[in-house]
Amino acid sequence: MLLPIYVYGQPVLRKIATEITPNYPNLSEFLANLWETMKKADGVGLAAPQVGESIRVFVIDGSNFTDDDPSMATFIKTFINAQITERFGEKTLFNEGCLSVPGIREDVSRFSSIRIKYCDENFNTFDEVFDGLKARIIQHEYDHLEGILLIDHLNPLKRKILKSRLNNIAKGIADVNYKMKAVKP
Ligand code: ZN
Repeated sequence: MLLPIYVYGQPVLRKIATEITPNYPNLSEFLANLWETMKKADGVGLAAPQVGESIRVFVIDGSNFTDDDPSMATFIKTFINAQITERFGEKTLFNEGCLSVPGIREDVSRFSSIRIKYCDENFNTFDEVFDGLKARIIQHEYDHLEGILLIDHLNPLKRKILKSRLNNIAKGIADVNYKMKAVKP
């Protein structure tokens, strides 16, 4: 089932998401919906708060980046209860977009490598290091669990320039190919 995507202005995007247990109600159905919603919206990743659930869950399909990095072809993963324990390496810029901030693309500075503990959809636990594009996408999705949006990484002047566009998004004025849930529909 396709879920509406909550956009800028929705309070759920600013909450710290909570961990879940394997008994979380209807988890497999929720994950299936999250995957379906991300694919339909041509997203690279989608975090649970973006569909209104403040839980520590996100999904990533990096296969669109296979041309840039062949190892991205199999970077299709579910992350549950993720905790980034280290960020290291160089800080690099990369042009990012976000389904919750439609129409805005900006260069965001992030560390090139991370170490992360997480569970997969079967609650097997992992403690892994990711680099490059994988670390980039994980950090973006992880931010959603911490109530952070990509615009928070921009300098005050940039944010000021984007203010009216952000206000429009909050009102549901944006050209998107998915169902969005704005504060004032
Ligand atoms: Zn996002």
